[in-house]
Amino acid sequence: MRVSWQSLYDEIYACEKCELCRQIHNKVPGQGDIHARLMFIGEGPGADEDMQGLAFVGAAGQLLTKMIAAMGYDREQVYICNIVKCRPPHNRTPEPLEAQTCLPYLRQQVALVRPRVIVLLGATAARTLLREDFRITREHGIWVERKGVWFMPTYHPAALLRDESKKREAWHDLQKVMEKMKEIGEEASDGGHEGI
Ligand code: SF4
Repeated sequence: MRVSWQSLYDEIYACEKCELCRQIHNKVPGQGDIHARLMFIGEGPGADEDMQGLAFVGAAGQLLTKMIAAMGYDREQVYICNIVKCRPPHNRTPEPLEAQTCLPYLRQQVALVRPRVIVLLGATAARTLLREDFRITREHGIWVERKGVWFMPTYHPAALLRDESKKREAWHDLQKVMEKMKEIGEEASDGGHEGI
């Protein structure tokens, strides 16, 4: 049986299934259009996200907003969340066990939103959802289809902030997403912009 958004969020807010909840200020379930055709999944909350309880609101979030706008969408038109809903200490990468422990919540979010296309931001998202030995540097930009949902792995915006030279490749990946959205009849109304 499919859960409701309210019961899912209640469950996440009450969750103590892994150690990540011990030092946080807020759970960060994710936000956006709950009927979005396009979804973005990152790794986990950072300091700003932990303070505000919202996904992707820090520097990487601002870049993600630009990336989404360059594709022709508003942030409010997509759904944005992370693999883990609690900030890992010192922004470390979530352990595979932590990611797997939190994964049922993400699966329920995907089941509720029912996106047609999911952009996986960074290696942790791709390793958790596609294959544990996924190499983002080599394998970004290649479509994976699972049960009618199209997954596009690309760089995490934080990685793009650390290395601007990767932006060109990331934009190329996002252009493929725009093409796919057009192909499935879900094209952005303003058609996208010049790049990120
Ligand atoms: S990271 Fe996920 S599984 Fe771990 S405590 Fe937070 S909500 Fe629960």
